[in-house]
Amino acid sequence: MATSDLDERFARALHHRNARLAAGDPLSPPIVPASAYWLPGEPAGEYQYGRWANPTWAALEGALAELEGAEVVTLPSGMAAIAAVFYATLKHGDRVLLPSDGYSATRALAEKFLAPLGVGFDTCATGQVERAPLDGYRLVWVETPSNPGLDVADIAAVARRAHAAGALVVVDNTTMTPLGQRPLELGADLVVSADTKGIAGHSDVLFGHVAARNSRVIAQVRDWRRHAGCIPGPFEAWLVHRGLETLQLRFERMCDNAEALAARLAEHPKVQRVAYPGLPTHPAHALARRQMRRFGALIGLRLSDRDSAERFIGGCRYVRPATSFGGVHTSAERRARWGDAVAEGFVRLSVGCEPLQPLWADLERALDLS
Ligand SMILES: *Cc1c(COP(=O)(O)O)cnc(C)c1O
Repeated sequence: MATSDLDERFARALHHRNARLAAGDPLSPPIVPASAYWLPGEPAGEYQYGRWANPTWAALEGALAELEGAEVVTLPSGMAAIAAVFYATLKHGDRVLLPSDGYSATRALAEKFLAPLGVGFDTCATGQVERAPLDGYRLVWVETPSNPGLDVADIAAVARRAHAAGALVVVDNTTMTPLGQRPLELGADLVVSADTKGIAGHSDVLFGHVAARNSRVIAQVRDWRRHAGCIPGPFEAWLVHRGLETLQLRFERMCDNAEALAARLAEHPKVQRVAYPGLPTHPAHALARRQMRRFGALIGLRLSDRDSAERFIGGCRYVRPATSFGGVHTSAERRARWGDAVAEGFVRLSVGCEPLQPLWADLERALDLS
């Protein structure tokens, strides 16, 4: 999608409620904490019971739908969005192909709760899925760039092959947001997003959404939410709506910062390796240039060992030691502490919106001391 078209979409997302507002209506969407609605006689209308629909979810879904160019169902966390896709699309006897190097809770959910129901799964590295045999799968799951290794998979190529094999393609677009990468336009059937990260962007709420253009598939996801009761809170939906309004500003700033920092970090003698799709040294840089609108705000950097990585993180003033990513504040963690298949000295840096110069000066000083 051309930048001007995406700008147009973002402007529409910001103003999506205007047409429905009347004089005196609040400009920000009301937080509606209703479990029940006024419902005399035969049930009619959009709002009947709190588990089925809510005006604050609807406001957020309207904005996200403009941005995604697809129907959207909101869920109370990123994992809830992933669970919704699993349970809405899979049945006993189906198989799923999951990334071996992606968000580990996705694999854990499949192992602990899908496998006992007779839904099998295999795993494949993100960098290999373009070439992996795809016959026999109901879902092919792609996370690109993968978290935390930041490997890149060719979404269009995977979608062509998966569709030929009769599978649906799901892309976890959390690391990129709809502003950084457009999986549905590259042929994916469903997008899941942990809005907890960049979309909400302020490290104060968990949230997720599913987007799809196939109305039958998205209706199944909505129906699962209604019956499973896995519903977002109205206040949380409001927080995400508010965060979304500054997504473009934040995301552009974070990506600008990350591009500049990745190049500088790659030159630093204490850094053994930098994984960032925007660097020409990334093995899939050419693909990343084609497929991604920006290169994202996550940087993987490898220091010599565990102690030097911990000294680096602890030595920064403008980096918060935390898991998660996509917030206004830069944060970092050593991923091996969760058992990810990465070197002990591998640090995932989530670059925030700080002004670049003080941030770089801080990182450089902490690296020198690491
Ligand atoms: C964080 C994350 C999730 C899960 O999101 P929660 O809101 O924590 O449930 C899923 N996928 C990716 C890629 C993530 O980074």
